[in-house]
Amino acid sequence: MPSKKFSIATAIANLCAYASVHFSADRYDLIYARNQLLSMFGQGEPSEPDKELPDFQTGIIDPIVNYAIENGMCLPEEALLFETKIIGMVMPSPSSVIHRFDTIAANEGIKSATDYLNGLSVKSNYIRMPDISKNIKWTAPGPKGDLTITINLAKPEKDNKQLLLESKLPQTSYPKCKLCVENVGYPGALNYPPRQTLRVIPVYLNDEPWYFQFSPYVYFDNHCIALSEEHRPMAITPATFTRLLDFVDLFPHYFIGSNSDLPIVGGSILAHDHFQGGSKVLPMLTRPAKKVFRSEAFPEVTITIHDWYNSVISLTSHNRKELEKIAAYILHNWRNYSDESIGIFAKTSEQHNTITPIAEYGEAGYTLHLILRNNRTDETHPHGIFHPTEDMHNIKKEGIGLIEAMGIFILPGRLLDESRGVVEILTGRAPLNFAALSDETNPLSKHLSMIAQLANDYGTNLSDEEADRAVVNYINNTCIKILECTAVFKDTPEGNKAFDVYLKKMNFKQV
Ligand SMILES: [Zn+2]
Repeated sequence: MPSKKFSIATAIANLCAYASVHFSADRYDLIYARNQLLSMFGQGEPSEPDKELPDFQTGIIDPIVNYAIENGMCLPEEALLFETKIIGMVMPSPSSVIHRFDTIAANEGIKSATDYLNGLSVKSNYIRMPDISKNIKWTAPGPKGDLTITINLAKPEKDNKQLLLESKLPQTSYPKCKLCVENVGYPGALNYPPRQTLRVIPVYLNDEPWYFQFSPYVYFDNHCIALSEEHRPMAITPATFTRLLDFVDLFPHYFIGSNSDLPIVGGSILAHDHFQGGSKVLPMLTRPAKKVFRSEAFPEVTITIHDWYNSVISLTSHNRKELEKIAAYILHNWRNYSDESIGIFAKTSEQHNTITPIAEYGEAGYTLHLILRNNRTDETHPHGIFHPTEDMHNIKKEGIGLIEAMGIFILPGRLLDESRGVVEILTGRAPLNFAALSDETNPLSKHLSMIAQLANDYGTNLSDEEADRAVVNYINNTCIKILECTAVFKDTPEGNKAFDVYLKKMNFKQV
């Protein structure tokens, strides 16, 4: 069937029609945006949109971007930048999105408002669902609750050509970082994501200006971010607890947590104070209490030790003020707590103890989960004592931040191809050649000890299914071990005793 002749003016009309339906863009703004687009593409007059709107990506956006490339308006590698720019031109302005969000929140409740912003984020390609759905996700069963493992294919790793291009680009100091609110509308560059389609909602946390937005990476349902208006380093202080609880007062249907403020045990961005939250689906949040304590000084708070892989003190109360006070008390105690017998040193030349805090609201009132962390290194553990050991780095080497500490593992996309390489060996289709595997240029070299162990345990004559299962089980067990590594009080008789000693020092009595 011959395809209809492409008309850029019709494509622009279709883009405006899509914006009217799916972004609820204002008709007066769309008259204006259409003229901007016509001028940009050198068109004198508008066209009517197609009677039936084609698919947004393949029928509207891709043809416009291809037209721009063919006509020298952008380079092929700039396609994403160009696409975001033209979608940004037909999106409601940041202030109209804020106004609409507030109106929906007032009339239909906050959940409807966040659903609106999330829907807008998806429909505008700010969240690229077709890419996100490429991620491979499975559940790893574990003795203290299942973990969620995701191989991240949404963000393809950059090839050498792209890296070379990026290396030639000047490094700029604006915006100061990828979280700063100044990213709203920022055009981006080959080494920086375009943000014309980003929309944020101002919120006040502890009487300070903050912003709420969705994460473009969607590591779990409704993955959102709260960021401070001020570009300032992450810091866990008593004010952090107040801000987290203010957030759950505004968004009681979401949990919210902060990465800690130290490298190794913090997230990837320590330079900008921010939180991450979303639907209460993270594995840690579904776990019960292991032990219950009371404190005379904080009678309205239930203190529990969470039945989880790392060391979590959970505090629950309807009395918000008292909850903030006990959390500040524990933070102060933990910052200064050392127990040489289990390798916890609060300070050497620098501070090592910190907390990864998470807040949620439910029938039992407010809960603050405090994950106790320590980032000390020594000669035998140069990457961190409470961090995955070197034999696990083939699966995960980076710091274990909030999301992983709560049981959602985001593993690099390279792992998919590498796992297939391991399957080839375990099924006997590729030789088990230790000399070749020891060559560092071999992508499988980092998996040498995993391959040796699996070949030793199961042989190299497995069916595809058996080999797949062996590799997945290995990854699952490694993720569980990684979480156990992050526990400052290990789940051993010695570690449990040390945990009890610590709680006793704070005058918490087990009930
Ligand atoms: Zn910043």
